[in-house]
Amino acid sequence: MLRPDVEIAILGGGCAGLSLAVRLAAAGRSLCVIEPRVRYTDDRAWSFWRTAPDPFEDCVRASWAGWDVTGPRGRVARGSSHLRYQSVAAGPFYDRAQSVIADAPSADLVLGISAGEVRKTANGWQVETDAGTLSARQVVDARSPRRTPGYGQFFLGREIRTARPVFDPARVHLMQFRKARSRGVDFVYTLPFAPDRALVEVTSFAPESPGRDVFAAWLEEEIAAFDPGDTEVLREERGALPMEVGFSDFRRDGVIAIGLGGGAARPSTGYAFTRIQRQADLVARALDQGHDVPASLDGPFSRFMDRVFLQVIQTVPDRGPALFESLFRNAPPDRLERFLSGSTHPVDRLSVMTSLPTLPFLRAALVPA
Ligand SMILES: Cc1cc2nc3c(=O)[nH]c(=O)nc-3n(C[C@H](O)[C@H](O)[C@H](O)COP(=O)(O)OP(=O)(O)OC[C@H]3O[C@@H](n4cnc5c(N)ncnc54)[C@H](O)[C@@H]3O)c2cc1C
Repeated sequence: MLRPDVEIAILGGGCAGLSLAVRLAAAGRSLCVIEPRVRYTDDRAWSFWRTAPDPFEDCVRASWAGWDVTGPRGRVARGSSHLRYQSVAAGPFYDRAQSVIADAPSADLVLGISAGEVRKTANGWQVETDAGTLSARQVVDARSPRRTPGYGQFFLGREIRTARPVFDPARVHLMQFRKARSRGVDFVYTLPFAPDRALVEVTSFAPESPGRDVFAAWLEEEIAAFDPGDTEVLREERGALPMEVGFSDFRRDGVIAIGLGGGAARPSTGYAFTRIQRQADLVARALDQGHDVPASLDGPFSRFMDRVFLQVIQTVPDRGPALFESLFRNAPPDRLERFLSGSTHPVDRLSVMTSLPTLPFLRAALVPA
């Protein structure tokens, strides 16, 4: 049932909404999360390099110390003695969030309800929902973005179990570049959980998705190339993630936007989990201390670098595979991985910058924003 009056209304109980809600619920804040789904399913896996603690560490399903990228000059093998590429399954993540919220006396997660219009009032906000009006002093909008980005990461993946042991469970294959089916940069991503079990994903960094049929045919081709024998599809996932500097959804002034609609996806990769955790920490702290929430997760220099990088892969997508290969081949250990996870440390940024071929980047940097 909907509590009519709360301190904080969180619209959308996905990754970002729940990440914030668990922090606020654990701190005893009064809140209500509104989520249209009637029940959660194990609908995705979030993978990332862990660079900081977060409340979902016990939901990690697998960890890897080695990862590869295969570009035009061959395979680049990287790894780390302490940094791990990890995968969090959505099912345990949703379970954990629901249990923290259920244990907090002033926090509610209301499933099966959509949030609509948000109006400013003298004391705060009113949110229209399918189940009536909710009043709140603060509103956090964590709904899926309604705006279509001009450039994005599009993918279709299947977690499969194979008859033959065809995967190396010790190494993630982050990018295996392929002849482009989209108008951008296309590659295959393989996340191996066991010799006979992996998530295989076909991905485009492109202005638009090449379409479901193209993706499905391509994915089947890639899976067949493993020569896996009889294959069982355990789960399918797809996505369209914004890759746009300053991407944010339509929102009212004064409403705090988080998640993909609040610029949480890293513009140069589309990946968001670690940034969503950082954003949840920042917003929880700001709400606790009564500060303004920082407008962006990135400083001007990071935005500049992301813009230049995107400019290069958008204008000369054919060079994308060589650029990514060059990054993974030349960047010092851990620096690139930390940068891709959202680090804004100057040494990480500088290491990444100096690992890139200079000419296309200089040209892109000279094009006005
Ligand atoms: C299949 C998939 C795999 C991904 N894998 C990775 C990965 O490996 N690593 C990584 O870093 N990132 C990954 N991402 C990107 C990103 O981390 C996820 O998209 C993440 O779930 C974004 O969190 P979010 O809260 O912004 O959006 P969501 O988790 O999608 O949550 C948005 C919520 O808003 C709700 N909503 C919609 N309309 C309304 C409404 N009217 N009222 C109330 N609620 C509403 C939705 O039901 C949903 O629960 C992946 C994305 C997808 C789709």
